[in-house]
Amino acid sequence: MTHLIDHLGIAVKSLKQARRFYEQLGLLVADEETVEHEKVKVAMIPVGESRIELLEPTSSDSVIAKFLQKRGEGLHHVALHVPDLSHAVETLKASGTRFISDEIKIGAGGHLYVFVHPSSAGGVLLELCQDQPSAV
Ligand code: ZN
Repeated sequence: MTHLIDHLGIAVKSLKQARRFYEQLGLLVADEETVEHEKVKVAMIPVGESRIELLEPTSSDSVIAKFLQKRGEGLHHVALHVPDLSHAVETLKASGTRFISDEIKIGAGGHLYVFVHPSSAGGVLLELCQDQPSAV
């Protein structure tokens, strides 16, 4: 797959309430899962080739809980799908791009991801992601 907006990450207090809103528009949650190391519950809503990712904190010390405390519900990050994540990270690091963390992680649905710091991405928290290469 090539470059595309993979998803928009939206921080919400309640997945249940938030998903009900989108369901009124005829959209359906594809899957819901907890990502333990990020301390969030995630609901993915397909929108064409892209998705809306609803994020509800599972703990008061999760990044999303802190975001909600500081700024309230709202757009948390934009995720860009790239064809080759490690190549993209290498290229960006060579040009001095700041990342939230240096390692590539595994997220909801098994995709690989890394976050670019907003100071390097025009004030937007930017997730770069790639589908998990299928284990053969
Ligand atoms: Zn995301």
